[in-house]
Amino acid sequence: MKTIGLIGGMSWESTSEYYRLLNELTRDRLGGLHSARCVLYSVDFAEIEQLQVQGRWAEAGDMLAAAARSLERAGADMVLICTNTMHKVAGQVEAAVTVPLLHLADATADAVTATGLRTVGLLGTAFTMEQDFYRARLEKRGLDVLIPEAADRALVHQVIYEELCLGVVQDTSRAEYQRVIRKLAEKGAQGVILGCTEIELLIGAQDSPVPVFPTTRLHVEAAVEAALAAAT
Ligand code: GLU
Repeated sequence: MKTIGLIGGMSWESTSEYYRLLNELTRDRLGGLHSARCVLYSVDFAEIEQLQVQGRWAEAGDMLAAAARSLERAGADMVLICTNTMHKVAGQVEAAVTVPLLHLADATADAVTATGLRTVGLLGTAFTMEQDFYRARLEKRGLDVLIPEAADRALVHQVIYEELCLGVVQDTSRAEYQRVIRKLAEKGAQGVILGCTEIELLIGAQDSPVPVFPTTRLHVEAAVEAALAAAT
């Protein structure tokens, strides 16, 4: 079994899901007392969030690159950035290590295309929904990506930073997300990417008229697959 390196803490609410799912999926695959071989470097998210709002992405990238180097020194055979948003600096992280970076947008796009769907809605932070670093990567893999209108994007973004990253899960916010998802489906989305690693704490398959693609779970599935590829 290979060792999975996690750059987490963005937020730790979703990183704890990564840890739980990694171990559950490994146990499901190997049985018995098997659990995932992994190393976690968990950052202080307040520092990263400040750099995000100030647009100081290169500095945030330096921090995550240093974390990736630590993971490699600790024996990681691959690196995961446990947030969609911080894939904005995936290039910096990838360049800092010799082991592969398992890109979250690639794992997600592969999961969507495997179902035969092509047009998907994308929910995430404003950075993820509005900028090119994530969407373009999905589009390059053959997907057509729809995003909510401006007011709905603001709402989705606010719920992430002011609720989900703080461990607050509210029925009122779930209802708002359901409304946004319904609108995307009406515009032609055949599925919806939960493109922020905390959204699956709020939204599940039962909350959507179209299939949802939960990025934390999909990232973990890809990591476990890669970790066990040689072993099984
Ligand atoms: N975890 C979130 C994501 O997947 C948002 C937190 C962050 O800004 O990294 O995008």
